Amino acid sequence: MALRYLFMRRPTVILRRCETYDVQAIRGIVRDALETLDLHPHGRTLVKPNCVASGHYFPDAHTRVEFLEGVFLALQDRTREPLEELALGERSGITMPTRYAFEGAHYYPMAKRLGLTVHHFDETQQVEIKLTHEERLRDSIYVPEPVARADFFVNCPKFKAHPWTTVTFSMKNYIGIQDDRHRLIDHDHRLHEKVRDLQFVLQPRLVAIDAITAGEGRMLTPKPFHLGMVILGDNQLAVDAVSCAILGIDPLTVEHLRLAYESGFGPVKLDAIDVVGDVSLEEAQRRAEGFEKGLIRVEKYFQGTKIRAYAGPPPSDGGHDYCWGGCPGALEEAIEILRMYDKATDDKMPPVHIVFGAYEGEIPAKNGERVVFIGDCTTWKGDLHGKLVEITSTYVDRSKKNPLEAKRPDIFGKMISTEKVLWKARTEDVIRMTGCPVSVAEHVLALVRLGGLKNPYFDPAEIFAFTSAYVSQRTRNVIQRIFGKSYNVPGFDARGEASRMPFEEGR
Ligand code: SF4
Repeated sequence: MALRYLFMRRPTVILRRCETYDVQAIRGIVRDALETLDLHPHGRTLVKPNCVASGHYFPDAHTRVEFLEGVFLALQDRTREPLEELALGERSGITMPTRYAFEGAHYYPMAKRLGLTVHHFDETQQVEIKLTHEERLRDSIYVPEPVARADFFVNCPKFKAHPWTTVTFSMKNYIGIQDDRHRLIDHDHRLHEKVRDLQFVLQPRLVAIDAITAGEGRMLTPKPFHLGMVILGDNQLAVDAVSCAILGIDPLTVEHLRLAYESGFGPVKLDAIDVVGDVSLEEAQRRAEGFEKGLIRVEKYFQGTKIRAYAGPPPSDGGHDYCWGGCPGALEEAIEILRMYDKATDDKMPPVHIVFGAYEGEIPAKNGERVVFIGDCTTWKGDLHGKLVEITSTYVDRSKKNPLEAKRPDIFGKMISTEKVLWKARTEDVIRMTGCPVSVAEHVLALVRLGGLKNPYFDPAEIFAFTSAYVSQRTRNVIQRIFGKSYNVPGFDARGEASRMPFEEGR
């Protein structure tokens, strides 16, 4: 056993009561935690929230600004010598400019007040981190430079359910440390392995979960659930395991937690974790009673609606019978966005059949009902409206996908390409949409067109702010490409490896 492990202390998870978004109360709670864990920010200190979406339509999807302000103030309180940088950084949901999400979450006035540096990870240089662990999906992974060079990383997720991954706490929040080009790679049936691999980049010194108003049911459009807590700790897996215990979930049933556990990132059993604070685990569990969570397959999700979904298995690598990290879940999120934006969505939708993966069953589409095959891996052969239809796979194996050649998805480009596909197929009953994954945005655009729904991207209340953030993002991307340093900067090492722990239990 390496010497450093002999002195490694047991992870501590702190459960604190916090009924409202009171900045000073949150500051006190986080400062107490930093003292308990004997932590002092230093060097380049970077705080990553979950700001996947924000604003009028997504009020409960992100880490609240008051929470972040309390965290930053506590970090300043515990700083012993001047920091090289105190920064906020994130990549919001795919195709949504991070500037737009930060604006909607009211992060900018707070950042200005506290003198923070703000990193939009979709506008910063991405650097290569080599991976060497045996079970990796790829030999290297790309992350924004501010993440690669952070000395003191603080992860501030939102406590939420996730219909594709059961929960999204601390480890899953790492999906937002990649820009869209790299985030979309392996965002499929092997998503959990990707989340595990990202753990090797670096581990947070502090985790502080915004569990004051938690989000139940979904990831982008969760229902608010008052939990009235802040959950903190110094080991990411231990924090997530205790968060699972609060919801009555066995952490080993959450695949990315199981994989991280098997890779040695920490314990999941409660007797290997010191759980302290002014809320007992039993009280936390009582507070969480009735919290809606769980994986929901797409066929079940749409039961009772005019959309009928069918899902066959994704490609066989990884041995999955369903693509939990890709297209089917994106359709679930898309319909919720549209329902929020247009209450008549379900009434307006015509009967439509949507197919994913290698589906082999019947598709009982009546005359006039359209059938949409979504995703590169989709295959099907059979009779539709009296004609033989054969859909073949266009799936490209991940070993042939080079991250350096990955293209940045562009929302306006997606609008044009989705329109093109649907325009070409306007008189057809069978529509094919390719991609791996087909993103939430593309599903939204397709449903808008199929159902004659209102397009949320053209919402008059949002279009100016969205377009302005988009133009800023793209302008900076161009400037960075022309004047920035080379894309692939050597010299950044994976540092998460050092956080792996040789826990014996159950390994
Ligand atoms: S095409 Fe979609 S469903 Fe198929 S593997 Fe890719 S993400 Fe999964």
